[in-house]
Amino acid sequence: MTATIINGKTIADRVKEELRREIARLASAGARPGLAVILVGDDAASQVYVRNKQKACEDLGIHSEVHRLPENTPEEQLIDLIRLLNASEDIHGILVQKPLPGHINDKAVIDAIDVEKDVDAFHPISVGNLLIGDKGFLPCTPAGVMEMLKEIGVSVAGKRVAVIGRSNIVGKPMAALLLREHATVTICHSRTADLPGVTREADVIIAAVGKANLVGAEYVKPGAVVIDVGMNRLPDGKLAGDVDFEAVKEVASAITPVPGGVGRMTIAMLMKNTVEAAANALAKRSNG
Ligand code: NAP
Repeated sequence: MTATIINGKTIADRVKEELRREIARLASAGARPGLAVILVGDDAASQVYVRNKQKACEDLGIHSEVHRLPENTPEEQLIDLIRLLNASEDIHGILVQKPLPGHINDKAVIDAIDVEKDVDAFHPISVGNLLIGDKGFLPCTPAGVMEMLKEIGVSVAGKRVAVIGRSNIVGKPMAALLLREHATVTICHSRTADLPGVTREADVIIAAVGKANLVGAEYVKPGAVVIDVGMNRLPDGKLAGDVDFEAVKEVASAITPVPGGVGRMTIAMLMKNTVEAAANALAKRSNG
C-alpha cells in the first residue's frame, strides 16, 4: 500500500479562500482585522516564523505589525507593550513569538494578553474553555490538524488516536480537541513504555515530538492515518518531520509530508483566529 499524501498547502489555501470572503464582509462594515506579533531577541528560526506570518497577513489584506524588541528587554516593558496592544482598536490578535529570553517569565507574558485577542490560545482561560467545551479560540496547530482530518474525510469519532507528545502547545490541546470530537485518545510521551506497541493500536497517529524520523513503519498499523507535526532541522539544513516518511508511507493509508503539511495549516488557523477576533470586536461594537 502507498499512502495518500495529504497536501497542507491545498487545504490551507481553501481555508484562506473562506477567510477572504469573511474579510470582505468585515471591510464592507468598515473593519479590518489586525495582528500584532512581538519578537524579543534575534532567534533565527523565530525570524523565519514571524516573516511567514507577516506574509500570510499581507496576502489576505490583514493589517500586521511586528514589534521587535532587543534580547535584554525587561519583562515589565514587554508587558507594558502588551497592555498598549490590548487597548488598541486596530489590533485584534496579539502573538508573542516563542522562545522568549530566559529572564522573561512566559506565564506572566501570556497572562497579560487580553483573552479576546489571544489568537494563539495559550492563555489559561482559552485552555480552560477548550477543556470544558466553551466558546473561544482554538490553538492553531491542533486546530489545523483537525481541519486536515476533516478535509480528507476522516472522522475520529469512536476511533483510537495516539498523540505522541504532551506539550502545552501541541500534545495536550491536540488530545483535548480529539476528545471533543469523540476519539478514544492515548497521550504518549518520553516515559511511555513500548511506544511502538501503543501506537500500533491506533487508527490515527499524531506525532508532535521534535525528534527527526522517530516514528518508523513498526509504529504504524497498516491503513492508519499519520499526521506529522514535527519540524526538525537536520545537520545538512533540511527540514524533517518526526515520522520516517519514506518508510511509513508504505504502511499508512494517508500521511502528511514535512515540509508542506501541518506547518501551512498552523499559519492558516492563526489567520482564521485573527479574523474571528475582528468579527467578534465588530459584533461587540455593533451591540453596544
Ligand atoms: P516539546 O515541548 O519539546 O514536547 C515534545 C514532547 O515529545 C514532550 O511531551 C516529550 O515528552 C515527548 N517526547 C520527547 N521524546 C520522546 C520520545 N522519544 N518518545 C515519546 N515522546 C517523546 O515540543 P512541541 O513544542 O510540542 O513540538 C513538537 C514538535 O512539533 C517540534 O518538532 C516542533 O518544532 C513541532 N511544531 C510544529 C508546528 C507546526 O506548525 N508544524 C507547531 C508547533 C510545534 P515529555 O513530556 O515526557 O518530555
